[in-house]
Amino acid sequence: MRLFYSDQDRLQLPEGHRFPAAKYPRIWQTLAVEHPTLLEHAPRAEWDEVALAHDPLYLADLERGTLSTAAVRKLGFPWSESLVNRSLRSVGGTLAALKWALIHGAAGHMAGGTHHAFADRGEGYCVLNDIAVAIHVARRHYNVGRIAVIDLDVHQGDGTASMFRADPTVFTLSLHGAKNYPFRKEQSALDVPLDDQTSDDVYLAALDAALPAVAAHKPELLFYQAGVDALAGDRLGRLALTHTGLMKRDARVYALASTLRVPLVVTLGGGYHRNIEDSVVAHANVYRCLVQALG
Ligand SMILES: [Zn+2]
Repeated sequence: MRLFYSDQDRLQLPEGHRFPAAKYPRIWQTLAVEHPTLLEHAPRAEWDEVALAHDPLYLADLERGTLSTAAVRKLGFPWSESLVNRSLRSVGGTLAALKWALIHGAAGHMAGGTHHAFADRGEGYCVLNDIAVAIHVARRHYNVGRIAVIDLDVHQGDGTASMFRADPTVFTLSLHGAKNYPFRKEQSALDVPLDDQTSDDVYLAALDAALPAVAAHKPELLFYQAGVDALAGDRLGRLALTHTGLMKRDARVYALASTLRVPLVVTLGGGYHRNIEDSVVAHANVYRCLVQALG
């Protein structure tokens, strides 16, 4: 098992920005205390790797800082060199986790899961779609055929869904708040919209009903976007899961990977709790459970 992280290329945001950039070091610092031997630095992704999933014009604007005002507004971050480097590092961590998982079975990346990034644009705090890039790398360089993405962030994985909508070899599952951002949803292979204030029991029943479709796809590789913004009290979520409910959710995904005997790559995702420490704990639990289940 390896858990990839980065303390280089931290995102520098203007004072007062709503994005909780401070949560990232607190997640890996927590895991570093418990599992110091499992942590490894994430490299930056190369532009030519990122270009496997993204439009060259978008990448050129991103690299040069020539994104339009509208594009920057949709993204939610002001352009900066630190944003570009951080975004490449964030893809690089998922690629490193992919390479580890393909050899050893499972790995986590304590960043990434930026599923609102489309081929030609960033949206909703997501600059580059790390899972989409990793899917292309897995196919091109590692000859992986069928792939599934289990996206349990409270927001629909719209970017990922749109990038693989026409590709029957990639199965995208998204459980999300029906009334949450993005307000115009894309079509995943399987979408499970959930009501506001959905509780643990209802959520886990919905997940149990959905996971057989992932198994039926017969994936050779699994990605798990493990956002924790379904936690009750999240500023940007509308569901009401508990920490225990989230851990049961994680355990189900890990059990599926184990049953299917396929490599598993786990990424971060959203977590915007009013008390950010609650998001940090929930994110850390994702990797604790991973080590326990598949380490
Ligand atoms: Zn989210």
